[in-house]
Amino acid sequence: MKCSQCASADTKVIESRDVTEGQAIRRRRSCNACGHRFTTYERVEHPQIIVIKNNGVRELFSREKLLAGLYRACEKTTVTNLQIEQVVADIEKELQQCADPEVSTSKIGDLVMEGLANLNEVAYVRFASVYRRFTDIAGFEQELSQIKEKKTSTKIKKTKV
Ligand SMILES: [Zn+2]
Repeated sequence: MKCSQCASADTKVIESRDVTEGQAIRRRRSCNACGHRFTTYERVEHPQIIVIKNNGVRELFSREKLLAGLYRACEKTTVTNLQIEQVVADIEKELQQCADPEVSTSKIGDLVMEGLANLNEVAYVRFASVYRRFTDIAGFEQELSQIKEKKTSTKIKKTKV
Protein backbone atom coordinates (compact mmCIF):
# COMPACT_ATOMS: atom_id res chain seq x y z
CA MET A 1 0.00 0.00 0.00
CA LYS A 2 1.50 3.30 -1.09
CA CYS A 3 1.60 6.31 1.23
CA SER A 4 -1.33 8.61 0.53
CA GLN A 5 0.93 11.63 1.09
CA CYS A 6 4.24 10.96 -0.68
CA ALA A 7 3.36 7.79 -2.65
CA SER A 8 6.30 5.89 -1.15
CA ALA A 9 5.78 2.13 -1.16
CA ASP A 10 7.67 1.84 2.12
CA THR A 11 4.75 1.79 4.57
CA LYS A 12 3.85 -0.46 7.48
CA VAL A 13 0.70 -1.51 9.31
CA ILE A 14 0.73 -0.24 12.88
CA GLU A 15 -2.72 -1.43 13.93
CA SER A 16 -5.42 -3.78 12.56
CA ARG A 17 -8.90 -4.24 13.89
CA ASP A 18 -12.11 -5.92 12.88
CA VAL A 19 -15.02 -3.56 12.30
CA THR A 20 -18.70 -4.07 11.47
CA GLU A 21 -18.78 -7.53 13.02
CA GLY A 22 -15.90 -8.96 11.03
CA GLN A 23 -17.22 -7.66 7.72
CA ALA A 24 -14.26 -5.34 7.35
CA ILE A 25 -10.75 -4.82 8.66
CA ARG A 26 -9.55 -1.33 9.45
CA ARG A 27 -5.81 -0.78 9.29
CA ARG A 28 -3.75 2.14 10.54
CA ARG A 29 -0.66 2.52 8.42
CA SER A 30 2.47 4.58 8.76
CA CYS A 31 4.84 5.74 6.02
CA ASN A 32 8.50 5.05 6.71
CA ALA A 33 9.55 7.74 4.27
CA CYS A 34 7.58 10.76 5.50
CA GLY A 35 5.95 9.55 8.71
CA HIS A 36 2.42 10.19 7.42
CA ARG A 37 -0.31 8.06 9.00
CA PHE A 38 -3.37 6.90 7.11
CA THR A 39 -6.20 4.39 7.35
CA THR A 40 -7.27 1.66 4.93
CA TYR A 41 -10.25 -0.66 4.99
CA GLU A 42 -10.39 -4.18 3.67
CA ARG A 43 -13.81 -5.58 2.80
CA VAL A 44 -15.20 -8.65 1.11
CA GLU A 45 -16.19 -7.55 -2.35
CA HIS A 46 -19.61 -8.57 -3.57
CA PRO A 47 -19.58 -7.83 -7.28
CA GLN A 48 -22.85 -6.76 -8.79
CA ILE A 49 -24.48 -9.56 -10.67
CA ILE A 50 -25.56 -8.87 -14.23
CA VAL A 51 -28.51 -10.81 -15.56
CA ILE A 52 -28.71 -11.55 -19.26
CA LYS A 53 -32.32 -11.88 -20.32
CA ASN A 54 -33.54 -14.20 -23.07
CA ASN A 55 -33.69 -11.28 -25.51
CA GLY A 56 -30.03 -10.47 -24.79
CA VAL A 57 -30.75 -7.38 -22.68
CA ARG A 58 -28.54 -7.04 -19.61
CA GLU A 59 -29.79 -5.71 -16.30
CA LEU A 60 -28.64 -5.67 -12.69
CA PHE A 61 -29.73 -8.65 -10.63
CA SER A 62 -32.67 -7.61 -8.49
CA ARG A 63 -33.32 -9.44 -5.26
CA GLU A 64 -36.74 -7.75 -5.04
CA LYS A 65 -37.80 -8.96 -8.48
CA LEU A 66 -36.79 -12.50 -7.66
CA LEU A 67 -38.65 -12.33 -4.34
CA ALA A 68 -41.77 -10.99 -6.07
CA GLY A 69 -41.76 -13.88 -8.54
CA LEU A 70 -41.39 -16.38 -5.71
CA TYR A 71 -44.13 -14.81 -3.58
CA ARG A 72 -46.46 -15.08 -6.58
CA ALA A 73 -45.62 -18.76 -7.11
CA CYS A 74 -46.01 -19.54 -3.41
CA GLU A 75 -49.32 -17.73 -2.89
CA LYS A 76 -51.82 -19.83 -0.91
CA THR A 77 -49.32 -22.62 -0.35
CA THR A 78 -47.71 -23.74 2.88
CA VAL A 79 -44.42 -22.08 1.93
CA THR A 80 -43.53 -19.38 4.45
CA ASN A 81 -41.95 -15.99 3.74
CA LEU A 82 -38.91 -17.13 5.65
CA GLN A 83 -38.50 -20.15 3.35
CA ILE A 84 -38.85 -17.92 0.29
CA GLU A 85 -36.23 -15.54 1.64
CA GLN A 86 -33.93 -18.46 2.33
CA VAL A 87 -34.29 -19.68 -1.27
CA VAL A 88 -33.42 -16.21 -2.56
CA ALA A 89 -30.50 -15.85 -0.13
CA ASP A 90 -29.10 -19.22 -1.25
CA ILE A 91 -29.39 -18.22 -4.91
CA GLU A 92 -27.72 -14.87 -4.27
CA LYS A 93 -24.89 -16.58 -2.43
CA GLU A 94 -24.42 -19.11 -5.22
CA LEU A 95 -24.36 -16.36 -7.85
CA GLN A 96 -21.83 -14.36 -5.84
CA GLN A 97 -19.56 -17.36 -5.59
CA CYS A 98 -19.59 -17.76 -9.37
CA ALA A 99 -16.44 -16.50 -11.02
CA ASP A 100 -18.55 -15.04 -13.83
CA PRO A 101 -20.48 -11.91 -12.77
CA GLU A 102 -22.90 -12.41 -15.65
CA VAL A 103 -25.66 -14.95 -15.39
CA SER A 104 -28.55 -15.85 -17.67
CA THR A 105 -32.17 -15.69 -16.52
CA SER A 106 -32.47 -19.39 -17.33
CA LYS A 107 -29.67 -20.21 -14.87
CA ILE A 108 -31.49 -18.23 -12.16
CA GLY A 109 -34.75 -19.92 -13.12
CA ASP A 110 -33.11 -23.33 -12.74
CA LEU A 111 -31.83 -22.39 -9.29
CA VAL A 112 -35.30 -21.21 -8.24
CA MET A 113 -36.89 -24.43 -9.47
CA GLU A 114 -34.30 -26.43 -7.58
CA GLY A 115 -35.13 -24.52 -4.42
CA LEU A 116 -38.90 -24.81 -4.88
CA ALA A 117 -38.78 -28.51 -5.75
CA ASN A 118 -37.67 -29.19 -2.19
CA LEU A 119 -40.37 -26.96 -0.69
CA ASN A 120 -43.68 -27.30 -2.45
CA GLU A 121 -44.95 -29.01 -5.59
CA VAL A 122 -47.69 -26.49 -6.32
CA ALA A 123 -45.29 -23.56 -6.09
CA TYR A 124 -42.79 -25.41 -8.23
CA VAL A 125 -45.28 -26.13 -11.00
CA ARG A 126 -46.64 -22.57 -10.88
CA PHE A 127 -43.20 -21.08 -11.18
CA ALA A 128 -42.23 -23.56 -13.88
CA SER A 129 -45.33 -22.79 -15.94
CA VAL A 130 -44.55 -19.08 -15.95
CA TYR A 131 -40.83 -19.43 -16.34
CA ARG A 132 -40.69 -22.26 -18.86
CA ARG A 133 -43.86 -21.10 -20.63
CA PHE A 134 -45.01 -24.61 -21.36
CA THR A 135 -46.44 -24.74 -24.82
CA ASP A 136 -47.73 -28.26 -24.60
CA ILE A 137 -48.86 -30.89 -22.15
CA ALA A 138 -45.83 -33.06 -22.91
CA GLY A 139 -43.44 -30.45 -21.56
CA PHE A 140 -45.51 -30.09 -18.44
CA GLU A 141 -45.65 -33.82 -17.81
CA GLN A 142 -41.92 -34.09 -18.30
CA GLU A 143 -41.40 -31.43 -15.66
CA LEU A 144 -43.70 -33.26 -13.25
CA SER A 145 -41.89 -36.55 -13.70
CA GLN A 146 -38.62 -34.74 -13.02
CA ILE A 147 -39.97 -33.51 -9.68
CA LYS A 148 -40.99 -37.01 -8.77
CA GLU A 149 -37.56 -38.34 -9.70
CA LYS A 150 -35.92 -35.66 -7.59
CA LYS A 151 -38.20 -36.50 -4.67
CA THR A 152 -37.34 -40.17 -4.91
CA SER A 153 -33.61 -39.48 -5.03
CA THR A 154 -33.90 -37.13 -2.03
CA LYS A 155 -35.69 -39.83 -0.08
CA ILE A 156 -32.97 -42.34 -0.93
CA LYS A 157 -30.32 -39.87 0.23
CA LYS A 158 -32.24 -39.30 3.45
CA THR A 159 -32.52 -42.99 4.27
CA LYS A 160 -28.79 -43.41 3.70
CA VAL A 161 -28.08 -40.70 6.29
ZN1 LIG B 1 4.86 9.08 2.90
